[in-house]
Amino acid sequence: MTERSRSEHFLERLVGVASVSGQEAACLQVCEGLMREVGLATRRRSCPGVEGAFNVEGVAGAGRPKLVLTGHIDTVPVEGMTVNHLGERRGGRYYGRGTSDMKGGLAAMLAALDRLRRAGTRLDGQVVVVATVYEETLKCGGYQVALDHRDADAVVCSEPTDCRVAIGATGNLPVRLDVTGKAGHTSIPGSGRNAILGALLAARAIVDEMAETVEVPHLGPRRRALGPGVIRGGLSQTVVPDRCTVWMEARYFPGETAEGLIARMNDICARALAGQPDLKATVRGERLDFEGHAYPPGSWGHFICVERGLKPLLTDPDTAIVRAFREAVVAEGGDPRPELMYGWGDIEFLATDHKVPALYFGPGDVKAAHTADEYIDLDRYDLAVRVYERAVPGFLNSAARRA
Ligand SMILES: [Zn+2]
Repeated sequence: MTERSRSEHFLERLVGVASVSGQEAACLQVCEGLMREVGLATRRRSCPGVEGAFNVEGVAGAGRPKLVLTGHIDTVPVEGMTVNHLGERRGGRYYGRGTSDMKGGLAAMLAALDRLRRAGTRLDGQVVVVATVYEETLKCGGYQVALDHRDADAVVCSEPTDCRVAIGATGNLPVRLDVTGKAGHTSIPGSGRNAILGALLAARAIVDEMAETVEVPHLGPRRRALGPGVIRGGLSQTVVPDRCTVWMEARYFPGETAEGLIARMNDICARALAGQPDLKATVRGERLDFEGHAYPPGSWGHFICVERGLKPLLTDPDTAIVRAFREAVVAEGGDPRPELMYGWGDIEFLATDHKVPALYFGPGDVKAAHTADEYIDLDRYDLAVRVYERAVPGFLNSAARRA
């Protein structure tokens, strides 16, 4: 067996068992087995908010420094996939649900630890690998990592970054825009005030003004993604609608806050509807679940997505963990320029709430994530294994020397 095929065995095993969010148990068991196979002592950690949910952890070594490596084991659903969702190899790619997002990343971490163990590489301190659950939905796995590992010296998550060192990630702001108008009879020209038209005007104004380019420290200009996802309003074709609601999502950057963005949206709506008597718009935070129901205040989903919120992340590029990964990427022939991850990832809880230096580094490509033919490039996978193999001892042994 070549080194590469031995590494790919971890990928094949994790992709080979489905793990859509909420149905992760069988795949967690496989992951536990793989952790033991690479010499890690395993344990389970129950997560808050969701009955029966737990993360699986594997630990090597003890004491300080402590490096936490995480990857979510859950995936989005497999319906509509045009490839074998449990894995198939074609050319230089491995197809299947979760290959890029992000079993490929978790597998690369395990493959790297496997190589280090077989090579007898000494690791100062401890490494904890955590397979988290529910990242795609209720985020309780990542939240538990923040509770369990607030003493970590660094945390690395293998979300798909195409082997770039992502020192930042965007926040995710879910909002609802309510527009009220005035009901009327549709036979009378100009009767009532049409809330659906008002909502379109207000939503358009928010997108036009806020789909802007923002300067992100250390990373340069980045364009904001935002837009409406769901719209509901009106009773009948014969009644001028007096209410309409649009649910939107906006991604946001380090230095911005959810409150600040909502205030701006309200201001934009007020200006957009200023010349329209009887049309009023308000924006506030709210998240719909996949069935289209809003998470009610007091629920776990509301706490995570709205009350606490999914915040942006930015790590100083001069921290030891970023240096260790960039050096490893250089040594392995990759692109060491720091990057911003497109989406939000669940180490943000640990990074924000406990100030643990954090970065994302993974072999997947976010453009392949959540698609009908999700895949991972096997050369990128191999590069990620080599980078982890170099960066993990690089960080631990240099941090131990400084301590
Ligand atoms: Zn992901």
